[in-house]
Amino acid sequence: MSKEFDIKKITRQNVLELKPYSSARSEFKGHANVFLDANESPYHTGANRYPDPVQTQLKNELSKLKKVPVNQLFIGNGSDEIIDLLFRAFTEPEISNVIVNPPSFGMYKVAAQLNDINCREVLLTGDFQLDIEAILRKIDENTRIIFICSPNNPTGNRMKKEDVIHLLQNFENLVVVDEAYIDFSEDESLTGLLNDYPNLVILQTLSKGWGMAGARIGIGFASNEIVATLTKMKMPYNVSEINQKIALDRLLASSQVQQEIAIIIDERELMRPVLESLDFVEKIFPTDANFLLLRVKNAKNLYQYLLSNGIVIRDRSNQPLLENCVRITVGLPEENEILIEKLFEYQSL
Ligand SMILES: *Cc1c(COP(=O)(O)O)cnc(C)c1O
Repeated sequence: MSKEFDIKKITRQNVLELKPYSSARSEFKGHANVFLDANESPYHTGANRYPDPVQTQLKNELSKLKKVPVNQLFIGNGSDEIIDLLFRAFTEPEISNVIVNPPSFGMYKVAAQLNDINCREVLLTGDFQLDIEAILRKIDENTRIIFICSPNNPTGNRMKKEDVIHLLQNFENLVVVDEAYIDFSEDESLTGLLNDYPNLVILQTLSKGWGMAGARIGIGFASNEIVATLTKMKMPYNVSEINQKIALDRLLASSQVQQEIAIIIDERELMRPVLESLDFVEKIFPTDANFLLLRVKNAKNLYQYLLSNGIVIRDRSNQPLLENCVRITVGLPEENEILIEKLFEYQSL
C-alpha cells in the first residue's frame, strides 16, 4: 500500500473552495426536445449546440474498453490539458517542486514553468531506466508530483513496473505515469494499480495508436477524488462536440484500430534490421512505441539530408544522453519504403 495519501493536504486552497461554473447544459437533467436554455442558435450547423460537458458517451465507451469505472476517468483537451490541471490543482506556485526524468517528454517541464513550479531533473540511467535512489534523494517536503513516462518518449522503452511501484509506495504525493504509447507496448497499462494506490494518476491519449491527434482527446485515470477535483476545475466545455463525436466513432471501430496498430508494430520490427545494416547507424534502441530511436554518426547531417528530400524526422541530440540520436516515427509501409530508400542513398554519398 501507499503511504498516507491525503488529497486535501495537496489541493490548493482556492480549488478546495471553488464552486464550479454551472453551465446550462450541466444544470439540465432529463429529456427535452426544445432547447431554449443556453442561448444557442436553433439553426443546424453540425455544431450549433453546446457539447456534453462531462462527455458521457465517450466516457462510457472508454470505461468499457479500459475496464476502469466512469468516475475514475477524466477527459481533457489532449493530455496537455490534464497535465496543466494537475499543476493548478496540486502544486503551489513558487513553493512546490516536481520531479521529471530526462530525456523525456518536454511538456512536464513547460507546464511546471508556466505554473511557476520548480522542476527538478533526475537523469534516467544509462539504459534509460528510472534512477530510483536519486529520485528519492531529490524529494523534499515540497515535492508534489513525480512524472514518469512509460513507454518513454523519446527513448521508446518502458519503465520497470517494480520501480514505479517502489515510488508509489515511498512517495506520499502524486505519481503521474504517462502511457501515451501504451497501445504499442507488450506490457499492459498500470490501470490495475489504481485501486491500491490513491496517489497514482495515469495518462493516456487518443493521439497516437488511436489516430486522433487532431481531435485532442487526453485521458486521465485516477481515484474518484482526483477526478472530481479536475472535473470541478476544467473549462465547462473543454472537449468540443465535433471532437467527442469523431473520437466516439473511432472507439466503436476498435478492431480496425487494433489492426492498424499491429501493422505499425510489424513495420517497426521489419525496419529494425534494415536500419541496423546501415553503416552510419551505431545503435537502435529497444522500443515499445511507434517510433525508433537511433544513434547515428552525424544526426544533424542526416536530418538535413532527409529534410531536403521531403522527409522530416526528429533530431533529439540536444537532450541529455541522446548525443547524435534521431527519433523516427513508423509511418505507412510505403512511407517507410521511401525513408529506407533515402537512407541508402545517404549511405552511398
Ligand atoms: C504524444 C504524447 C502525448 C499526447 O499528448 P496529447 O496532448 O494527448 O496529444 C502525451 N505524452 C507523451 C509522452 C507524448 O509523447
